[in-house]
Amino acid sequence: MRIPFIVGNWKMNLDRAQAVSLARGIAESIGDRSQPEVAICPPHVYLDAVGTVVASSAVSLGAQNSYHEPDGAFTGETSNSMLLDLGCQYAILGHSERRHTLGESDDVINGKIHAVIESGLMPILCVGETLQERETGKTAEVIGRQFSESLKGISADSMSQVTIAYEPVWAIGTGKVATPEQAEEIHAELRELLQNHYNPKVASTVRIQYGGSVKPENAVELLSQPNIDGALVGGASLDVSSFLAIVEAATTG
Ligand code: PEP
Repeated sequence: MRIPFIVGNWKMNLDRAQAVSLARGIAESIGDRSQPEVAICPPHVYLDAVGTVVASSAVSLGAQNSYHEPDGAFTGETSNSMLLDLGCQYAILGHSERRHTLGESDDVINGKIHAVIESGLMPILCVGETLQERETGKTAEVIGRQFSESLKGISADSMSQVTIAYEPVWAIGTGKVATPEQAEEIHAELRELLQNHYNPKVASTVRIQYGGSVKPENAVELLSQPNIDGALVGGASLDVSSFLAIVEAATTG
């Protein structure tokens, strides 16, 4: 049984007071409820403040990125041990904004996944095709390459730490959501990749989230698909009631 997992990716938004207030609203409502699992990923500079707010609730803390080296002369970067020190349990890796705006390759993401797992943090690996790739029939090829390159050298045992997020680039922040059928098709392909690269146990236990313009209005239908185990939510995670409505959809979906 895969426990649904809803994650809020706040990206580079909010000020400190807004971040604390949003975290408080979510933590107060979730309380100690463990299903669905809920995590929020504020900007790094607010992890400490937000971590303090959610510490006594079931809401987990995640980072939006991390660096693969443990320490040293890496100006502006944040190590996994620093994130753990602030109470993080998860790190989003390979988000399309990091792949496409900040130029991260599958190779870089693979290095980060190894370092995150070794540190004890759990990676949320994002994969997804661009509109051009979809329109030229390359979706399966792109997803397959991102999957195998990003997870190169990751053992079946370590896969118990991994969540995968299917995020079609054309649906992120655009309001263009994939239909439940389009999303389910790719989620089923990802589960087949898990089966082929690993084994049936990994395929049946790894959670695969959908991300891309998830809103309260479309969440129930998306989350009721058999291979969609949760959502990675950007824009709608910045509003307490929208985010909580998506959490609620995961309960009923
Ligand atoms: C995201 O940031 O991962 C995302 C899916 O954003 P949005 O929900 O705004 O499309």
